[in-house]
Amino acid sequence: MMDFGFKLSKSATIDLDRAGTERYEKLCALSPDARTCMACGSCSATCTAASFSGMSVRKVILGLQRGQDVRPLLSACMLCGKCTLVCPRGINTRRLILNLSKSYD
Ligand code: SF4
Ligand code: SF4
Repeated sequence: MMDFGFKLSKSATIDLDRAGTERYEKLCALSPDARTCMACGSCSATCTAASFSGMSVRKVILGLQRGQDVRPLLSACMLCGKCTLVCPRGINTRRLILNLSKSYD
């Protein structure tokens, strides 16, 4: 095969019709305010754990909507509650994380 000096990487497309969203629906049953998230990122900007772990409630909610495993993010959360104070939608993000962690037990 001819070497063109670059490689095509695997597509990162997510088929949302096939993504397993059971855990997201389970979370919404426990924390209905999760559905109001507009992915603004205010929680990410203030997260105490973000700079060393990449933790962000925004990423957690988006990941669940895409059927991804978000447990590595959850384990970094210190439950400090700063994200709850800044959420413009008034989502109780701290409770959301607690409910989600319990759903993995
Ligand atoms: S601050 Fe609230 S609305 Fe904004 S991304 Fe975070 S959880 Fe969603
Ligand atoms: S409660 Fe967790 S997600 Fe929210 S700011 Fe604190 S460490 Fe970050």
